Amino acid sequence: MLQKTPRILCQFGMSSLVLLSIATSVVRADSCAPYEKLSRFIQEKVLPSSGSTLEQRAEELRQIPTIIAEISQSIYENYRLGRGLPISAENCLPSGYSDRIQHNIAAVFFHESIREMNESKSQTARSIAKLLLKKEQAGAFIPFTLTGHWKTLDRPLERSTSDQSPLETSSAGFHRAQAAVFANIAMIPHSDWLLVFAHEMIHVIDEQIHANLSIVANPDLARTVAQIANSKASINELTQDERLTCERFLVSALNRGFLAELRAWWLVRQIYHELHLPPIFWLEHLYAEGTPNKSTEARFVQALSERFPTSLTGLFGLPIIQALDANHRSNWIKYPRRVPWGSLKPLVKKL
Ligand SMILES: [Zn+2]
Repeated sequence: MLQKTPRILCQFGMSSLVLLSIATSVVRADSCAPYEKLSRFIQEKVLPSSGSTLEQRAEELRQIPTIIAEISQSIYENYRLGRGLPISAENCLPSGYSDRIQHNIAAVFFHESIREMNESKSQTARSIAKLLLKKEQAGAFIPFTLTGHWKTLDRPLERSTSDQSPLETSSAGFHRAQAAVFANIAMIPHSDWLLVFAHEMIHVIDEQIHANLSIVANPDLARTVAQIANSKASINELTQDERLTCERFLVSALNRGFLAELRAWWLVRQIYHELHLPPIFWLEHLYAEGTPNKSTEARFVQALSERFPTSLTGLFGLPIIQALDANHRSNWIKYPRRVPWGSLKPLVKKL
C-alpha cells in the first residue's frame, strides 16, 4: 500500500543512501558495451601509448564530443524503449572521460525529455516544455543531475510495483532553495519517466514556490505571527489584521509545500490522461483516494492534502496556525478553483 505520510521527497537528501543500501553492483561482461566505441577510440588514437604524434592526438581529441553525444543519445533512447541502462562509465573508461560522459548523458536526458514533452500529444506537457524553453532562452540555468545509477544498478526498474511510486522512493526530487532537480533513472521505470520528469519540471516553472520564499523566511513576520498565535486561544479571538498576518505566513509556506505538490500532481494527472498511457498503478491508486461521493477535483485535493500534512514543528505546531491550516484545506477541498494556482493557472483544466 502507498503510505499516507508525505514521502514524496522534493528535497535533496536520502536518494543516494536509499539506493546504495538496496543496490548490488554486478558488473556484467557486456556492461561496458555502450562505451566501447569511445574506449577503443581513446586506446587507439588518443592515449600516448597509441603511437600517434602530439598533433595527431590533438586532432583526434576534437572528435570525442561527437562520440560522447552519440553514446549519450543511444543510452537515452535505449532507456526510453525499456532496454535498460549501462553501468557507470567510470568502470569502462579512463579517468576523466567518465565524468565528461556522465555530464553529457544528464544534459541529453534533460533536453530530450523536454523535446519529447514538446512533441507529445499532451497539450499540458507541450505548454510546460515551452515554458521551460522560454526560461532557458531567457538565460536561466536549470541544474539537472542524474544520480545513483552509475555506481549501483546495471539495469533500471522494469515497472512500478504496487508500493513503488518513483516519486515516493526518493528517486527524483526538486530542491526548493536551489531550484535544482535530480533524478535517479535506475529507480524510475522507463514507462513512468516522462511523468516523473514533468512533475519536477512543474516545480521549476511554479513561480509560487520561488515568490513565497522571502515571506516564509522573513524573521519579522515569523516573530509577529508567534506573538499573535501564542496570545490567542482560538481563531475567533483574532482581529482581522491578525488573522490576515497569520494567513499570509501560513499560505506562503503551503505554497512551497502542499500546494506546490497539489499543483504539480494536478498537471501530471492531466498529462497522464492526455498521453493515454497504459495504467500506472501508483497513479491510479492515488487518483482513487478521497471520499467517493465528492467530485473528482475535490477528492484529488483531499487525497493530496492527506499526503502532505503541515509539519507540527515550530510555528506550524501552534493551535491557531493549525486551525487556520485546517480551514484553508477544507475550503480548497470544497472549492478546488480557489486553490492558488499562481503562474500555472493557464495550464489547469478540470480533471
Ligand atoms: Zn514534488
